[in-house]
Amino acid sequence: MTNITSTTTGLLEGKVALITGGGRGIGAAAGHLFAREGARVVLASRSETELEAATNAIRAEGGDAAWVRLDLADPDSVRSAIDRVLELHGRLDVAFNNGAAIQQPGPLGGTPVDEMDHVYRVNFRGQWIAMQAEAEAMLRTGGGAIVNTSSIGSRRANPALPAYGAMKRALNSLTETAAATWGPAGIRVNGITPGGTRTEMIDAWEAQTPGVVDRITATTPLGRMGEPSEVAEAAAWLLSDRASFVTGAILAVDGGAGA
Ligand code: NAP
Repeated sequence: MTNITSTTTGLLEGKVALITGGGRGIGAAAGHLFAREGARVVLASRSETELEAATNAIRAEGGDAAWVRLDLADPDSVRSAIDRVLELHGRLDVAFNNGAAIQQPGPLGGTPVDEMDHVYRVNFRGQWIAMQAEAEAMLRTGGGAIVNTSSIGSRRANPALPAYGAMKRALNSLTETAAATWGPAGIRVNGITPGGTRTEMIDAWEAQTPGVVDRITATTPLGRMGEPSEVAEAAAWLLSDRASFVTGAILAVDGGAGA
């Protein structure tokens, strides 16, 4: 485990932040970081046990945290999660659309239709609906900022995870379109493309395809996997007012692997 330390500077002071996929991995790390940076965070995903544990861990550090159940595959669930944030805090300032599903690794030719549909619903349609509801909420208070978690797998051919890579590439397009659409109304929208990051998602891929972590590490110029907190740092900056002239960007957070 790489030892990452950061000094907090109140980057997100006073902001109400929704974090999807907030129960574990990058989203849970973002929950801790955003709260330390002064945000009131609302974590969202399907596993209530994970959400409760992540929320309690943030509160134990003195942070302001709550959780709401959210299934990105279900449009009504997405809209009601954002309504719940408004009920709790009366506003939404920043949203980290980070929750996603990995597909069963396998070649393009053999990808089952239901696998394609699931990845589409969760990793693309869910983000679209979330952004619609988030922008509507943000417009009530004069604007905000959104960051969508894409993937290094969106930047190039992805023979092992074809549906996942394609939906993440589509998400990059949607991110840019959202930035152009809502920029005039004061909403910035950016994306990040993490490289291999030490979370359960990679553990699941490694379990299906032993050797993946070694392969990723060997092709990453910084010579290691990323830590969830390192990805969260990039999101925190993009969501903060310190990134006030950055919108429509897709920022690589990959140790140089995409270079
Ligand atoms: P993770 O530990 O598996 O976390 C994924 C999160 O997404 C979990 O909180 C999960 O919670 C949530 N999620 C999955 N399906 C969902 C659904 N239908 N509705 C709502 N939430 C759902 O993986 P991670 O690495 O932190 O992933 C975070 C983001 O980084 C994802 O967008 C992923 O594609 C991206 N990414 C990761 C890597 C990497 O190497 N780890 C690389 C590139 C991009 P529930 O299952 O409880 O719903």
